[in-house]
Amino acid sequence: MSPADERPGDGGSGDAVVVPGEDGTGRVGGAGGFETRAIHAGQPPDPATGAVIPPISISTTFVQAAPGRPGRYEYARSANPTREALETCLAALEEGREAFAFSSGMAAEDALARALLRPGDRVLLGRDAYGGTLRLFSRVLAEAGITWSSVPLTDPAALAEHWPEDTRLVWVETPSNPRLEIVDVAAVAEVAHRRGAQVVVDNTFATPYLQQPLRLGADAVVHSATKYLGGHSDVVAGAVVTDDPGLGERLRFLQNATGAVPGPFDVYLLLRGIKTLAVRMERHCANAAAVADLLAGHPAVARVVHPGRPDHPGHAVAARQMRGFGGMVAAVLAGGEDAAVDLVARTRLFTLAESLGGVESLIEHPARMTHSGAADTDLAVDPGLVRLSVGLETLDDLLDDLRRALDGIGDGTSAVS
Ligand SMILES: *Cc1c(COP(=O)(O)O)cnc(C)c1O
Repeated sequence: MSPADERPGDGGSGDAVVVPGEDGTGRVGGAGGFETRAIHAGQPPDPATGAVIPPISISTTFVQAAPGRPGRYEYARSANPTREALETCLAALEEGREAFAFSSGMAAEDALARALLRPGDRVLLGRDAYGGTLRLFSRVLAEAGITWSSVPLTDPAALAEHWPEDTRLVWVETPSNPRLEIVDVAAVAEVAHRRGAQVVVDNTFATPYLQQPLRLGADAVVHSATKYLGGHSDVVAGAVVTDDPGLGERLRFLQNATGAVPGPFDVYLLLRGIKTLAVRMERHCANAAAVADLLAGHPAVARVVHPGRPDHPGHAVAARQMRGFGGMVAAVLAGGEDAAVDLVARTRLFTLAESLGGVESLIEHPARMTHSGAADTDLAVDPGLVRLSVGLETLDDLLDDLRRALDGIGDGTSAVS
């Protein structure tokens, strides 16, 4: 077979070849299995040069045939070919109609909230939420007249019973950050839709490889692409994916009108990272399960929180709506806050840092770090809790690092106290 025969998109070499975007379903890049879409959707070989990797398009402006007669592209905030490749790929991975890339996860959340909410509307958050999401609703959007409350989304029956009448939107994180709570997306969507509200799922922790919220009934998916999608802790970006054409139109307008778009180099890093998303997630899941087992067997640990464990209250729902249980693990230390702070200072391979989802393992103390802003709210985090983003290092090295750090807790040799 000549290299030309292998080209996705030329359609001439038999049924092994996938043609991104031309599967007849109306979904962009919807053809092929997940890994195939991750590698090819939106990224056919460059028609000008045959380059297998789409070029990074850096031009901010594009020639017009006559005044007011632009070609396909006009100005790079409005549309950029590299960004479009990413958006096509993300839509294909979430099995949505359209995706919109943003310069950060928070920019994506802000645009999505503006697209869905008006003054006087209420949004429901879970009992556990990313600190930045809580800050966006409580300190930014509250000033625009949008109210929020935190309710146990893990209990859809209670949600139906205690439904505030002004609710327009339910904002779901599953698994949630940092307590890894699991929300039954289909059940919550049914409750919300019956009452005329919409449902957003922050799919940052699961990624579309493990969970596809649009297929479970969500109206939109939001991502911090900074985490697993990028996967290498070297790019800040966000995205929204939806099936709803009206919402898509509002997002396209807001993306251009407010302008928080990612640059082409960042977009390239995301496209590159996403190609290995499936294999990375498989190993993140396997390593995290082994780390959870180690933690569960250690006397310094009071409780392990991981949706893959049968004692996790959301285990059955996670097993139903996810392909795997993810790479995040949390643990409550028997010695409380002092032990937690001691542990995160003792690990070596598990680097003490915020963020998650990269190839390297990280550990953090949410109550003092990512979630310090939630201290006096319903969403305050147990100060004895540590959160681990289990990376792709050699598993035995990860387990040795944790075992040694756990064994040393409280012996007075830690670097901080
Ligand atoms: C990091 C994160 C965000 C915010 O994304 P940024 O890219 O940091 O702006 C939103 N939701 C979750 C679950 C996150 O982990």
